[in-house]
Amino acid sequence: MINGLLRKLFLLLARSTWLGERLPKLPFMARAIRRLMPGTEIGDALGAAVGLQVLGIRTLYTKLGESITDPAGAQAVHDHYLELLARIRESEIDGEISVKPTQLGLDVDEAACLGHLKSLAAAAEAQGSYLWIDMEDSSYVDRTLDLYQRLRASHPSTGVCLQAYLRRTAKDVERLLPLAPAIRLVKGAYDEPKSVAFRSKKEVDANFLSLAVILVRESRQRPMRVGLGTHDIDLVDQVATHAAAAGIPKDAFEVQMLYGVRAKDQRRLAKAGFRVQVLIAYGDAWYRWYMRRLAERPANVLFAIRQLLPW
Ligand SMILES: Cc1cc2nc3c(=O)[nH]c(=O)nc-3n(C[C@H](O)[C@H](O)[C@H](O)COP(=O)(O)OP(=O)(O)OC[C@H]3O[C@@H](n4cnc5c(N)ncnc54)[C@H](O)[C@@H]3O)c2cc1C
Repeated sequence: MINGLLRKLFLLLARSTWLGERLPKLPFMARAIRRLMPGTEIGDALGAAVGLQVLGIRTLYTKLGESITDPAGAQAVHDHYLELLARIRESEIDGEISVKPTQLGLDVDEAACLGHLKSLAAAAEAQGSYLWIDMEDSSYVDRTLDLYQRLRASHPSTGVCLQAYLRRTAKDVERLLPLAPAIRLVKGAYDEPKSVAFRSKKEVDANFLSLAVILVRESRQRPMRVGLGTHDIDLVDQVATHAAAAGIPKDAFEVQMLYGVRAKDQRRLAKAGFRVQVLIAYGDAWYRWYMRRLAERPANVLFAIRQLLPW
């Protein structure tokens, strides 16, 4: 109950532009965010990969920010990701990138957004890397999946995120399967109405498990990639148990987690032979993203408050 209220509160705060302009300037907020973000620059993000790579943990990068409202802004984000890919290659890091369509101008010019995605997919492919597309709130799902279908037709090294809290996702999986897609399944991070999303943890978890089992099973029939984007170790265990019972090896899917969250489990899973990938977020525009992370785990709020104290 309290967790549910806190989740709602932080998702509401995430939407406040007024707070978004002010809170990040407070020193304690900058201290609190360090736990989930190694820094604001590309170099900070790539630096964090070194320690992970020696443990066999691969990395995925995203520059924080959303909803670009002008073509020049979208172009700048595209150029930034090209630079990031070049830096990944130079650093010999086994890294991939994950982008938000609205950051590449989906709200401004859909054709130009697709052009940016194609250009980034080609650059990623040329260096043996991968382009992932994040999923934003439910009003973007149709357009994001259309973009992905068009992109995937010419660029196989591309994947898209699907959210298990959405009632429609089972149908979206069915629609995408013929493409032999790469899918990152997550629970979903936005505040969605009951009409489109399951609201209880029980329902979301049950849908996550059922979709994950379908995806892992299908990955034996076609050359797909399946990522479980979750820190829910119980769910990962349940998917692994289903896979083992069907004779599917544990490296048939990837476990994808956020930098700084359940780090011990990330290492334990990698050691146990699971394929683990860690998403490293960086950039100045972390306010909304951080509020969504606080919404996911009230204990993070206590951590943030502790940064206020001088000891
Ligand atoms: C790699 C990756 C990519 C993602 N991409 C997207 C996307 O494109 N679109 C989208 O809507 N969402 C995305 N998400 C976020 C996702 O939708 C969930 O909001 C988030 O992962 C929390 O849900 P959970 O599956 O970890 O389960 P939960 O049930 O929220 O948590 C499971 C356990 O993990 C712990 N935990 C969860 N989050 C945190 C945290 N921040 N700090 C500390 N402990 C935590 C919880 O305390 C709990 O014990 C992504 C998540 C990951 C890991």
